[in-house]
Amino acid sequence: MDSKTFRKQAHQIVDWMADYFEQVEKYPVKPRVKPKEIYNQLPENAPVEGESMDIIFKDFQDIILPGITHWQHPKFLAYFPANTSYASVLGEMITATMGAQCMIWDTSPAAAELEERVMNWLKKLMGIPNNFEGVIQDTASSATLTALITAREKLSNFDINQNGLEQNNLRIYCSGEAHSSVEKAVKVMSLGRKSLVKVGTDDHLCMVANELEKNILQDINNGLKPMCVVAALGTTGTTAIDPLAEIASICKKYDIWLHVDAAYAGSLLLLPEYQWMIEGIEGIDSFVFNAHKWLFTNFDCSIYFVKDKEALIRSFEILPEYLKTTNKGLVNDYRDWGVPLGRRFRALKLWFVIRNFGIKGIQQKLRHHNKLATDFASWVEADEQFEILAPVTMNLICFRFNPHDLNESALNRLNKQLMNQLNMEGKIYLTHTKIEGKFTLRVCIGQTYVEERHVIESWQEIKKMAEKTVFS
Ligand SMILES: *Cc1c(COP(=O)(O)O)cnc(C)c1O
Repeated sequence: MDSKTFRKQAHQIVDWMADYFEQVEKYPVKPRVKPKEIYNQLPENAPVEGESMDIIFKDFQDIILPGITHWQHPKFLAYFPANTSYASVLGEMITATMGAQCMIWDTSPAAAELEERVMNWLKKLMGIPNNFEGVIQDTASSATLTALITAREKLSNFDINQNGLEQNNLRIYCSGEAHSSVEKAVKVMSLGRKSLVKVGTDDHLCMVANELEKNILQDINNGLKPMCVVAALGTTGTTAIDPLAEIASICKKYDIWLHVDAAYAGSLLLLPEYQWMIEGIEGIDSFVFNAHKWLFTNFDCSIYFVKDKEALIRSFEILPEYLKTTNKGLVNDYRDWGVPLGRRFRALKLWFVIRNFGIKGIQQKLRHHNKLATDFASWVEADEQFEILAPVTMNLICFRFNPHDLNESALNRLNKQLMNQLNMEGKIYLTHTKIEGKFTLRVCIGQTYVEERHVIESWQEIKKMAEKTVFS
């Protein structure tokens, strides 16, 4: 391809992109494809001769697009959103074009300094104390792994990095509702599943601080070493919010690293009315939230704040000859702030988003989503055949269809069937969780361009399908 062809193709694809955003609700949210249906349409061998973009793009439309789940569809109500926006996509296009590797300051000074500036903007806006430093990671999973490794090194006075783990008596604590990335990090670190202590939760599925302390004391008495507590602000199942202030004071008392997983709900700290979630924030050590979930910035862009930057860098720093530079100490070399060496220029799209929306624009969107969720919750509540199963703290509603006189296992079957049929139909897409054994439907309203009518129509679809399901 030459520059002239690129220009022509790029214009066509940008037109396709604009059409996609305008028309995304015309696609089925979840594709109706069977396993291997896409794979079998693709040739067994890669082409020997180059092909024209026209043919490649036609195959994208004919073969690939029908197998895509449309995460930007305004009736995508599943999991948590991974939303994007016009500004973010424009930033991503430039990032891909420049293809800069932003591992150290020298390899792209503007990338490192924009990242530092944008992190400081967010820190201030979100109420993270000034003595924290921010860095963009690929995912919350990596950020949590980074936090646990730093906690381990600090606890062992950086001995484990040097000599390895001789005898594992370390313990990590999180609630039974914490994200699976905590368990994965424990596995990656070879600490073993037994090192992870799942602390009990209350009626609202929040960690019980007293139980945390009990667990810690018991472990200390048994000669074990509490290494880290992971508190969740907005669990994946139900957006439960662990009592941070109480947990922080326990961690302070026993000198334990406190990591906060706010992967989803962290965005809400941009609203003053949600600042209560981080009461006790001065007592934490690290914090992660995903701009790539509910901040209109396309995947991947995960924000990690850490109090002891020196401990982080000391845990991860590696300095081979070919990476030595003269500016060390004056600038941030982010390769030492996490797992990968190579880093994409992710700050650019985030900067575009924050500037193009403005803080006001972001706040309006978040509040709009919460309002739509409150409306939805009120319809569920008002309907005798449905019930809410967890407190609605933000834009997630956990509920189920509960027509008269069915026992728990029949209700579980019925709700599973309802969800599957809705998803198969492709007008809306929702997923589930289990709350105390109850099959629970989850509706999360956080698409960038979602409007009230989409939420009204989604509720109508659910009710219509529920009627059909109960009589089938
Ligand atoms: C989504 C989520 C994660 C994992 O995020 P990744 O960026 O995909 O690793 C972790 N914790 C919580 C609470 C989440 O909702």
